[in-house]
Formats: sequence, structure tokens, C-alpha cells
Amino acid sequence: MSPAFSLCVYCGSKPGKHPAYETAARAVGQWIGTHQGQLVYGGGHNGLMGIVADATQAAGGRVVGIIPATMVEREWARHSCDELHVVNTMHERKHMMMARADAFVALPGGIGTFEEFFEAWTWRQLGYHDKPVGLLNVEGYYDRLLSFLETSVADQFMGDWQMNLIHSDARVPELLRQLVEEAGLTAEPRLDAL
Ligand code: AMP
Repeated sequence: MSPAFSLCVYCGSKPGKHPAYETAARAVGQWIGTHQGQLVYGGGHNGLMGIVADATQAAGGRVVGIIPATMVEREWARHSCDELHVVNTMHERKHMMMARADAFVALPGGIGTFEEFFEAWTWRQLGYHDKPVGLLNVEGYYDRLLSFLETSVADQFMGDWQMNLIHSDARVPELLRQLVEEAGLTAEPRLDAL
């Protein structure tokens, strides 16, 4: 059976300092799996990336990993993905992740996560795609980023409409359901997961 939705998750290749980050990553994977979804992500086994992928498969979901060959050589790949695509460049990876997803969500992470989130958001506002974009604001991790972005609106470098393209929430089920539904799809729990 094909998955009900494909959610692209951007997140840290490190677990982060607070256990709440791992807990949230696990909850995201569990939600995807129990709602018959598919995870699309960077294909790594480290940090929050590995935790989301493990939790998705443990809950019965499919995992699509897309990783550049240089990262495979560095032994960063998670070989137990249902589909693991080894691509030549980072651009190819990001393009394929975008093409395979119905919606995007960023969890806490570092520079790689920021770059991916901003690209998904920028491309949305330019109309290169029309897929929803979310930020899982675990433990207020993104509070200061959001407040800086509000400064950009206040100083008239951005409009409210651009800010309003970001769905931000600390609650996993609420945020993920909103993204899936805005993508025009439905997320029903598997009967055996109830
Ligand atoms: P960061 O948020 O900086 O940890 O970066 C997450 C993103 O950076 C991933 O999607 C990858 O593009 C890349 N990345 C950095 N380190 C790793 C790693 N150890 N394994 C897989 N991807 C990584």
C-alpha cells in the first residue's frame, strides 16, 4: 500500500543537549509511522536524523533516505532505510528530498538544518513549490529565530504573508496534522496503532 503522505524532516545530525530533542524526534517518527506515512530525510544514522528514522520504521512507516556519496564514504549513511538513494551532489540530494515530499518540517538542528529549512521556505514564497513548511519549536529552541524574523517584518524586509507561510508549534501531532492537511492529504492512524 502506498503511504498516506510523505513528510520531509530536516533535523540535527547531533542529538543536542536536552533529552527533549530526542523525545520530540522519536515522537515525530512514531506519528509518521502510526499514521501510515513515509519519512523523507537526509539518510544519516547520527543524531536526531537517526532517531526519527528508527522511530518511523519501528512504528510501521517507510523511510526514504537521500544522501550524497561523500557522506556514505564517511559512514554516515543509515543502510536500513527502505529506500536509500546515494546521489552525487548536495544539490541533487536537496532537489530529490523536495520532489519526494508533500510537506517539510524542521526539528532542532544546526547549520545544515537551517539551510534546508530556509531553502524550503524561500522556494515556497517564490512559488517554486506549494508545499507546507513547518518548524517544530521544541523547548523554545526556535524562539529567538522567530523573533528575529519578526524584526525583519517590522523593518519591512519581509511581509506578514511570508512569515505566515511558516507553521510553528511545539506540539508534534498538532503540527504534523496541520502540515499533512494543508498539503491536501489525510492522516489516519492505523487501526492496530489505536
Ligand atoms: P546539522 O543540522 O548541521 O546537524 O545538519 C543536518 C544536515 O547536515 C543533514 O541533512 C546533512 O545535510 C548534513 N549532515 C551533517 N552531518 C551529517 C551526518 N553526520 N550524517 C548525515 N548528514 C549530515
